[in-house]
Amino acid sequence: MSTHPPGATIGIIGGGQLAQMMVMEAKRMGYRACVLAPRADEPAAQIADRWICGALDDAEAVERLAKSVDVITVDSEHVPASLLADAELVCPVRPSPHVLRTIQDRGVQRRFLEAIEAPQPHCVTVDSLDGLREQVQVVGLPCVLKSRQAGYDGKGQAVIRTDDEVEPAWRAVGCSPSMLEELVPFDAEISVLLARAPGGEMKFYPVAHNVHRHHVLHATMAPAPLPESVEDEAICIASSIATALEHVGMMAVEMFLVGSELLVNEIAPRPHNSGHYTFGACVTSQFEQHVRAVLGLPLGDTSLSSPAVMLNLFGDLWRDGDPDWTPILTQREARLHLYGKTEPRPGRKMGHVLLLDEDLHRALRNGEALLDTLTPSEHLVA
Ligand code: AMP
Repeated sequence: MSTHPPGATIGIIGGGQLAQMMVMEAKRMGYRACVLAPRADEPAAQIADRWICGALDDAEAVERLAKSVDVITVDSEHVPASLLADAELVCPVRPSPHVLRTIQDRGVQRRFLEAIEAPQPHCVTVDSLDGLREQVQVVGLPCVLKSRQAGYDGKGQAVIRTDDEVEPAWRAVGCSPSMLEELVPFDAEISVLLARAPGGEMKFYPVAHNVHRHHVLHATMAPAPLPESVEDEAICIASSIATALEHVGMMAVEMFLVGSELLVNEIAPRPHNSGHYTFGACVTSQFEQHVRAVLGLPLGDTSLSSPAVMLNLFGDLWRDGDPDWTPILTQREARLHLYGKTEPRPGRKMGHVLLLDEDLHRALRNGEALLDTLTPSEHLVA
């Protein structure tokens, strides 16, 4: 099994915050990083040793990257698998094109889960408005329509509660091939975060409890307060997914908890927003762990140093100008992460706050109150 020593270069396709935190950790360990992204001011491109200008589907740029790095990874599952298959002829690609091909189409992902008998919500494929009308009768109301391609953070999704909402939902997914799923009345949403090494060794982080608002992650609390049997079952499901895919790197498996039953919502074959808490609350962050796995290094310790709450910071906070971060910076147990994005659009993830606290409900209340107190900065620095 090839192990890359410090000084080697990791190539990352995608320049967002996940890539940025991978670059931070890779550089701390003596590695170099080359990022392929469309703009030089993207979070990871700002801090990488080298930046290759290109879109995620730019074959020529991916080829240039492959020729100049020791291993390639991605910060999004939406890189065309065919480009990664070409890159793999030049250098190792982790996760493999096969993993991305299985994950990036929700229909293929659902069929894969069915094949390995992983529990999941009742779902069917839909290819037309008439087909959708028929399938709504089969799945039943309420249900949720999700486009098969390029969906994330609730984008390309529409909840259908009445017959009148069928047609608007079809338009909301761009009239494109979709999955129709039962709307699960879950008690909680959790994610299992794991890392798998090229040789098959796996390490698991404490299971995270996720709180979504408007289908987007608002906060993560770790560890999730789960009965041991449920936690074991969640880890067992996630590990069978990673093993069946022969995945290499970090993986997040999002699940719904209904009573004591678990249903897989979706798989992310990379570091995940719900794993940001590990960067500051665990011995090895998910970003260091991903870097270790794709470079063939031994996996790190996943122990939790302190229970933690992570809250996302969205562009809405910039509504009246740059916030004054003093209330967060003056809290001993709070840690501020800003990704350096230059355009704070509403709903855009601009950063996150990590709060370390034995009492997770207190930490969540404290974090939400802190965000409520943020006001625009007075531009004190000339
Ligand atoms: P996704 O992009 O598929 O992860 O969906 C984003 C969020 O929408 C999830 O985290 C849930 O809060 C909600 N959601 C998605 N699918 C379902 C479902 N089948 N039942 C209930 N809630 C769902």
